[in-house]
Amino acid sequence: MNTRTIRLLAAFLAAALLSMLLCSTALADGEGYPHDDPGCTGAFAAAFDGSAITYTCNVCKKAYTVEVIGAPQPKNPAPAYTAPDAATAKLGYVYEFDPASSYYNISPHRIAFGQYTYSCSAYALANGSGYDTVYCCDVDTNVPKQVHYYKRLNLEDAGYYEPAMAKRIRGIVESAYPFISCEEMIANMLNAGCVFHGKLDVGQLVTAVQTSIWKYANGQHDLDYNITQKWSKFDSAIAPVEPFHGAWDTSDPDVAANIKTIKAYLDGCASNGSNAASMVINDITYQVYKISSDQSKADIRVMVQLNAAASQNDDITITIGDEARRLKSGESTAVFDIKGVPFGSEITASLSGRQYLEKGAYFYEPFGGWQVAQSFVGVASGMTPIHGSKQLKIEDNWNSYSLKKLANVNGVATTTPVKGAKFQLWYEPEQGSAVLVADELITDEKGEVHIDMLAELNAGGSYYFVETEAPEGYVLNSERIKAVSGETVTVYNSEKEYPPQPTPTPAPTPTPPAPYRPDPPKPPVDTNPPAEIITVPQSGDADILLPYLGVSAGIAALIIICCIRKRASRR
Ligand SMILES: [Zn+2]
Repeated sequence: MNTRTIRLLAAFLAAALLSMLLCSTALADGEGYPHDDPGCTGAFAAAFDGSAITYTCNVCKKAYTVEVIGAPQPKNPAPAYTAPDAATAKLGYVYEFDPASSYYNISPHRIAFGQYTYSCSAYALANGSGYDTVYCCDVDTNVPKQVHYYKRLNLEDAGYYEPAMAKRIRGIVESAYPFISCEEMIANMLNAGCVFHGKLDVGQLVTAVQTSIWKYANGQHDLDYNITQKWSKFDSAIAPVEPFHGAWDTSDPDVAANIKTIKAYLDGCASNGSNAASMVINDITYQVYKISSDQSKADIRVMVQLNAAASQNDDITITIGDEARRLKSGESTAVFDIKGVPFGSEITASLSGRQYLEKGAYFYEPFGGWQVAQSFVGVASGMTPIHGSKQLKIEDNWNSYSLKKLANVNGVATTTPVKGAKFQLWYEPEQGSAVLVADELITDEKGEVHIDMLAELNAGGSYYFVETEAPEGYVLNSERIKAVSGETVTVYNSEKEYPPQPTPTPAPTPTPPAPYRPDPPKPPVDTNPPAEIITVPQSGDADILLPYLGVSAGIAALIIICCIRKRASRR
């Protein structure tokens, strides 16, 4: 038994189960179905067996059948997948239209209004091992009759829609074929009280899904439409679709009524787009700082950061030059130390491998964007090839962040530098979580640390220092210290004034590479940055707190001793 057979069986069983549940679904009276007795006002109950819907009047028992024509099965094998050439390969997932058959449509229906007609179709984009079934998102953009490459993006952050609208589109896609089977979708619609006429076919489902998506993807296009059937190009790579009613360029009132019914149902589903899909890894950002430099070149540390972490099933490699880093589960960054990069030259981080995606609704953007070709929304799951690269020009242009650590004695700031305090530098983007940029910045004889970040990266975000280890005799100050380009922020370490306390075991610090050694900083996934940002030094808290702790401990000890003595005296 192959996977397809299992899927068909499962779909059939699901449909059969649902149809049993649906037998008692009451329909509104009338709905165009004549009763045996013209005076009968009984409601119709619907039953669906996977290939037909039977409507039966509860009173006069007259029954009507609506034949259901299911989804065509994709031809196998899929068209050969052509890896994109280097010039085309950008970030994300790459698909192509088969140039020999640019229309992979599975709908015979056109929506006509005014002088315009729109074809409503589900398309199949080759993905290397099969198809992703997708719907058009741009009603005004033609299908280009040439090869185009698409990258799969997250619907909610593709930049095409407001998040609320993206969720609505997700709600439609996840309530419709092919996210669920045609049979499941029909059963759900019957459960919601939908009444169909004549024949019901996948083309009608697809047309309705398409128009409902257009309503939210192209707000002005909630079409008041006539439905014609003039689509003739069925020689698609998926499969021929049965020519319903046998004629083109006609308008069938049953078909029109069915499509409007389905669309009304899907418009209602649009509000339910709450499911989250996996995050597609499709974006690279950089963090670059200078290790050393001369007039013409620099040694740099480059952190390549992806928009999502690798999962257990993924096989994702980031490469710069000859060096490759394979991401472990949970990692979203890779660190490279590159020596002698001439100013003005470019480095390129490349992304390759395979990512596992949970079944979900994804957005498909053509390379070149809106102007080049229509975008799509579609359903995908499983392992997907990823390709991508991003170039970065290294100029002798740096933002310098500095911190100076001075001693605070008895609550009084001094000018005594504190040497040997360890700091991290974090980058906090405008959106998303903070990233550990540099791990082992240690204050020098002057109590200072400096780090030079490549300028013109990460505009909009901000950097902050966090002390991770205080030198012997000083109290750790673990608050965030905002880093300001071109400025030196001064912070203070309080001296410990009291005899050594049994201090709690310090949190384990990341394995310390020597300063500026090419050991990658740990990814920030499991690290909780402190919550508060401060810009002014804080001091003295520990000095005030410690005596109280001592007094409290003393009182507690006295109480315990008293209790013990009382107990002992009772014996
Ligand atoms: Zn009746």
